[in-house]
Amino acid sequence: MSEDERTRLRSARIHISGIVQGVGFRPFVYHLATRLGLTGWVRNTSAGVDILVDGSEEVLRSFLQALQREAPALARIDECRVEWGAANGFTTFEIVHSQAEEGAFQPISPDVSICEDCLRELFDPLDRRYRYPFINCTNCGPRFTIIKSVPYDRPNTTMAVFPLCSACAAEYEDPTDRRFHAQPVACPQCGPHVWLEKGATGRVSAERDEAILAARDLLRQGYIVAIKGLGGFHLACDATNPLAVQELRRRKLRVDKPFALMMPDRNMVEAHCWLSAAERALLERRERPILILRRREDSPIAAEVAPNQNTLGVMLPYTPLHYLLFAAPHSQPVTFDMPPLVMTSGNLSEEPLCYDNEEARRRLGALADAFLMHNREIYMRCDDAVVRMFPALAAEGERVRRSPLYPLRRARGFAPDPIPLPWETIPLLATGAELKNTFCLTRGRYAFLSHHIGDMQNYETLRSFEEGVLHYERLFRIQPQAIACDLHPDYLASRYAGERAARENLPLIAVQHHHAHIAACLADNGWKGEGPVIGVAYDGAGLGEDGAIWGGEFLLADYHSYQRVAHLSYVPQPGGDLAVREPWRMALAWLRAAGLPWEDDLPPVAYARQLSSRKEMPILEVVCRQIEQGVNTVLTSSMGRLFDAVAALCGVRQWVNYEAQAAVELEALAEGRETAYYSFDIEGDVISARTLWQQLVADLRAGESPAVMAARFHGGVAQMTVEVCRRLRQATGSHEVALSGGVWQNMLLLALTVGLLQGEGFRVYLHRQVPANDGGLALGQAAVAWTRLREG
Ligand SMILES: [Zn+2]
Ligand SMILES: [Zn+2]
Repeated sequence: MSEDERTRLRSARIHISGIVQGVGFRPFVYHLATRLGLTGWVRNTSAGVDILVDGSEEVLRSFLQALQREAPALARIDECRVEWGAANGFTTFEIVHSQAEEGAFQPISPDVSICEDCLRELFDPLDRRYRYPFINCTNCGPRFTIIKSVPYDRPNTTMAVFPLCSACAAEYEDPTDRRFHAQPVACPQCGPHVWLEKGATGRVSAERDEAILAARDLLRQGYIVAIKGLGGFHLACDATNPLAVQELRRRKLRVDKPFALMMPDRNMVEAHCWLSAAERALLERRERPILILRRREDSPIAAEVAPNQNTLGVMLPYTPLHYLLFAAPHSQPVTFDMPPLVMTSGNLSEEPLCYDNEEARRRLGALADAFLMHNREIYMRCDDAVVRMFPALAAEGERVRRSPLYPLRRARGFAPDPIPLPWETIPLLATGAELKNTFCLTRGRYAFLSHHIGDMQNYETLRSFEEGVLHYERLFRIQPQAIACDLHPDYLASRYAGERAARENLPLIAVQHHHAHIAACLADNGWKGEGPVIGVAYDGAGLGEDGAIWGGEFLLADYHSYQRVAHLSYVPQPGGDLAVREPWRMALAWLRAAGLPWEDDLPPVAYARQLSSRKEMPILEVVCRQIEQGVNTVLTSSMGRLFDAVAALCGVRQWVNYEAQAAVELEALAEGRETAYYSFDIEGDVISARTLWQQLVADLRAGESPAVMAARFHGGVAQMTVEVCRRLRQATGSHEVALSGGVWQNMLLLALTVGLLQGEGFRVYLHRQVPANDGGLALGQAAVAWTRLREG
């Protein structure tokens, strides 16, 4: 080499942050550098990956490009910093030992469904992991749920108790192997195994492959089997067996709320559901979420799986054990011979998911006929995630990679992937809402929104919340310097925030519920615009600044503050929380507000009369007094309650078994081709539904079908929403609209509204990474708290 060429050699010191550990990143760098003839080293640090390479500038530049372009499937590069310097005279390229940095942190990969390579080996009789239910590699397997602490090395995971055999150790040490530094690597000789217990006796009735075959037989015979998975136990049964599904409902104390299904492959899903190409891609994503799909009318899935719904929640298998349950034993090529399975969270209704063997025997003993157990400990429980596809986003044809995914529950496969923030923050904790709780911790440009915790209405869920907060703080090395919570002082999450802020002498920022919703939607979209947006927050309930229950709100909002510029008119919510479970009460309140008499031919009135005679109590009179005197009654502007009331009037449902059931069934019922719609009255900043209720009652008396009435109601809400946005644009000049709150999980309403808004030239922000419901609230609380701390 000439002297000139030698001087042209340079070095690049590269620091990469993001999800770059436990995902095969160093072997990838090693292969890439070797391929390009570069010398130097790569190593993990507590903050990411460092690379130092020598080479000509041209080759180094293609190396940098390839780092981004060819990175392993599970890697996510958030930042790549390069410092150029003089060559160091390396002669080889090596992977060198990890280096810890004080206080540094990095994101951790969520759990990942089994990859194609591992799946092939699983069903290859010649492979040493043939039919081994814990096969995994650098590209797949458990992550978040088995990590106790950082750095992410085997001793810090629940795999620490399984010393590697020599064959596994060789793979683990070999940079050219797919299992190089795959922390959960294992085989039948050295790794965990499964067994079957009949009942909650703890007595083993079959082990390893025999346990799987026995579990298959039990499921086929209609029994309920608790199956230990990645993030906790499932309760499984044959989804085509109505008796089995009914029995599961009875034992789980779950009346109507739909059960999730698992089906082995796309073909079976297509036999039961309508599946578009985009939905298929979503279903097959490595996160393997539960996807809500439209059910085929001729599907033999038991009606009891999702009563009164036209959809099914379906996921594909995501662990090797799931595949083994579906596969005909020793079939070549593998065929799946099991019926679709109900796979619902292993818990009693409302309690957190079971994830520990001993706990499962205790809490699920009365629910399951048998337990398919294993001895790979789950450190952090994590439910399945639930998503829908929202076609309007996919059809927008934007050049940026934009997923049509619309999240309903953010959990396994997604958490604890951080949400990138549009600004640097200080360490903050936001404690979220009461229902569908998640919490949020921020640091740097990351918001770590927790996995789904659940409804914070019992001690077990509160404990699971507290454990979760501590775990995330430890994992991501976050010591909160301020705490944000909901304005509602009685939420358990708000009380936790208040007590902790007092104990640690930290600023406490209470954020109004609907402001937090809109801020969550903005942060979800990386919004950092100027001036306020029009926020449309529709949900069931959130405490307002005036002490009323809000939920049909138009806010002019940014991250810092909001102005309530329009809202649904207040109506009494007679009986308080009781009216949430009994929509007929809301229907009576709305009828009264619209000046319509309670006549006996109206379904909610007829129902109340029946109830009166059954309970020998003048219930209509009681409700009347509650409304007139404001006894045991709050005022509400909730859009969720309006949906409930309309469902009751249409005769769809007078009482509910789970939150939003009436609204969900009203959506399912709505006739898709109907174009007429009901009218709201927009009077200044108050939106009254007087005309709408008159039209509803007139349609009912004219014998119009509930399907048509449901459609006209959805259309009316969409038209009103757009009309109010138009007026606000005129008044303020703002043309950006953010849609948030649980009511926006209604896909019919969402599609109608987004279509109309876009037609009017509005720029619309929808949720994409966090749910529109209260499961996304903590992100908004954190964004508001940080902005207020910064701007005072
Ligand atoms: Zn794999
Ligand atoms: Zn081994």
